[in-house]
Amino acid sequence: MHAKLVIIGSGIAGLSAAIRAREEGLNDVVVVTRDLRGGSSWKAQGGIAVPIDSSDVESHVNDTLAAGRHLNDGWVVWGYIGFARESLNWLVKHGFEPCARRSLEGGHSRARVVRARIGGDKIGEAVMSILTKAVEELGVQVVEGRLGGVEVNGDRVMGVVLEDGDVVRADAVILATGGYSGLYLYSTNDGDGSGIEAALRAGALVRDLEFVQFHPTVAMINGDLFLVSEAVRGEGARLVNKDGEYFMSKYDERAELATRDIVSRAVYAELIRTGGVYLDISSIDLEDKFPTINDFLRARGVRPDRDLVPITPAAHYTIGGIAVDALGRSNVKGLFAIGETSSSLFHGANRLASNSLLEALVQSYLVVRAFKAYVNGGVWNTPAIGRYDLVVDAECREADGVDLNMARDLMWRYVGIVRSEEGLRRAIDELEGSLLPSLVARAAIIRRESVGVHYRADSPNWSGTKFHILFRCHSP
Ligand SMILES: Cc1cc2nc3c(=O)[nH]c(=O)nc-3n(C[C@H](O)[C@H](O)[C@H](O)COP(=O)(O)OP(=O)(O)OC[C@H]3O[C@@H](n4cnc5c(N)ncnc54)[C@H](O)[C@@H]3O)c2cc1C
Repeated sequence: MHAKLVIIGSGIAGLSAAIRAREEGLNDVVVVTRDLRGGSSWKAQGGIAVPIDSSDVESHVNDTLAAGRHLNDGWVVWGYIGFARESLNWLVKHGFEPCARRSLEGGHSRARVVRARIGGDKIGEAVMSILTKAVEELGVQVVEGRLGGVEVNGDRVMGVVLEDGDVVRADAVILATGGYSGLYLYSTNDGDGSGIEAALRAGALVRDLEFVQFHPTVAMINGDLFLVSEAVRGEGARLVNKDGEYFMSKYDERAELATRDIVSRAVYAELIRTGGVYLDISSIDLEDKFPTINDFLRARGVRPDRDLVPITPAAHYTIGGIAVDALGRSNVKGLFAIGETSSSLFHGANRLASNSLLEALVQSYLVVRAFKAYVNGGVWNTPAIGRYDLVVDAECREADGVDLNMARDLMWRYVGIVRSEEGLRRAIDELEGSLLPSLVARAAIIRRESVGVHYRADSPNWSGTKFHILFRCHSP
């Protein structure tokens, strides 16, 4: 079969799809990326959630649905978790060495998170070096470039245009460009949502943009940010404000071990109230247990055995994205999306820890099969718009003169950890012309109640009403 596949993005989703495609006998595969070592995948610190054995599949499904407040698609959750073992075996076949002992992470009822055997807190590096090597060995063409737009003829994808004007023709395009946390002033990664904007302008639907997960403890030293994982709090690190008060038990009886959203809101409140929040890590042997964090701190002159570590919460993972079905198909023929850039409804209103690497791996397996079916004349089933989906038209004019730093500041202040109608209205007014940020703010105002990672101070509870908010370009 001769069919050309273009993949945008070289994170775990993009590279795994390229390798899977070559393994399925597809020879004309091109990966376009703005930075081969960029994106979140290289930075991942925890692990990959995989059921311990077949008896654990159901509890992994239940944990995922509970975290997502059942705004997930149950079929997608069962399907992806059902494929988890295949994905892990596939990685192992390519040289990944899992740690023999599984780890327990927040929201999981059992210790099922697989970490790397060597350099425990460097799962991202371990996996990405293996995938990069496999891509080289298989001779996948990797081109440096930035996505400018997706080319569509009628209702069908024809290829992509790069920012420098080059056009790459293709039978299908897989967008694997990561999330949009980088639209916030403080973020653990640089995802700017450019793939999502390109898809919108090509006629794709996007979904669940209001669901942005914040990480509560990101070390911030001289402007450099570095995630300090939950596991460090699990080992006994404590949060203290500028007045020297250990405050977490005031907010939740589980104190430092409360869920990510509760700790994020507490840290944010104390930051505003006292002007500073720190992690006291002095009781932990960081060098032994968390070598990467230790290296980051010491390289910046912080001695964690003695000094308090200044922290901030930061945007970390974005659940919303291009609306796709379980196989990664968007509503535009030939346009697929996988990884963090997609909204497959696997996560619902909140992502369970270590479920995102899993999602990307499983999607890369499924998307290649869907691509083969498509180019072999298979039917393209447009993802159905659900009965309780709210579809909103958006003006998608080209942005003129938007100040990105100002937009990131507005997103942080008004579309961040704690939201309210008043702040969101202000953000919407001031973000006009900045497509994705203004849509995140609009989704956050439409969803009036708090659920999952979306917290509205003016309506902190949830009535249980389930719906999803989708945007489409009124004038792509
Ligand atoms: C610090 C940190 C720790 C994490 N730890 C874990 C963990 O332990 N377990 C877990 O499951 N998840 C974790 N996550 C989340 C997880 O890492 C990501 O969700 C996942 O790696 C996303 O993979 P991806 O391939 O979709 O996107 P990314 O890895 O972000 O890759 C996106 C790719 O697209 C390219 N790109 C972007 N825009 C363009 C454009 N316009 N043109 C061309 N190329 C473009 C980028 O250069 C990059 O190559 C963590 C995230 C962070 C930031």
